[in-house]
Amino acid sequence: MVFAQGYFFYVSIEMTSSQHCPCGHGQYAACCQPLHLKQQFAQNAEQLMRSRYSAFALQQIDYILETTALGQQAALDRVAIADWSQSNQWLKLEVVQHQPKLDKTHALVEFKAHYCDQNQGDKQAHIHHEISHFVLHQQHWYFLDPTLDLQITMKQPCICGSGKKFKQCCAQFI
Ligand SMILES: [Zn+2]
Ligand SMILES: [Zn+2]
Repeated sequence: MVFAQGYFFYVSIEMTSSQHCPCGHGQYAACCQPLHLKQQFAQNAEQLMRSRYSAFALQQIDYILETTALGQQAALDRVAIADWSQSNQWLKLEVVQHQPKLDKTHALVEFKAHYCDQNQGDKQAHIHHEISHFVLHQQHWYFLDPTLDLQITMKQPCICGSGKKFKQCCAQFI
């Protein structure tokens, strides 16, 4: 009996660690999970983008919020993000291109996220095609959200925290 329980425990651990990462880059435990757990940080914009996709797929909403540009986080609609994450079944991520150095602190990732909208009850796959921009701030990458209403003028300090004027920093990329 003890053996049987031990065996069951072993099997369930095994299944968890060998779960495929939603982003498609191997096993979750060796891919996006260490980022979601803050044990590691994304080394580049593509890795951050992948981990944000996986976070959507696994409904890790805090991770989505925390990896958005510092000055934009307060404007994010947590409920809407959670809804979008839950109402879709995330099928596959395709990274089309990664331009790691638009300048010293900005990068671009073009991707296609394949999903089914569960609310509409359809089995048809949709594609969300996006060109996203990312900013490096104090060795961490952040997503620049182009959909947020920016309450900022060109002369104010940038939303990324760089201390530069917005105009001379992230404004060029969102
Ligand atoms: Zn991954
Ligand atoms: Zn900036």
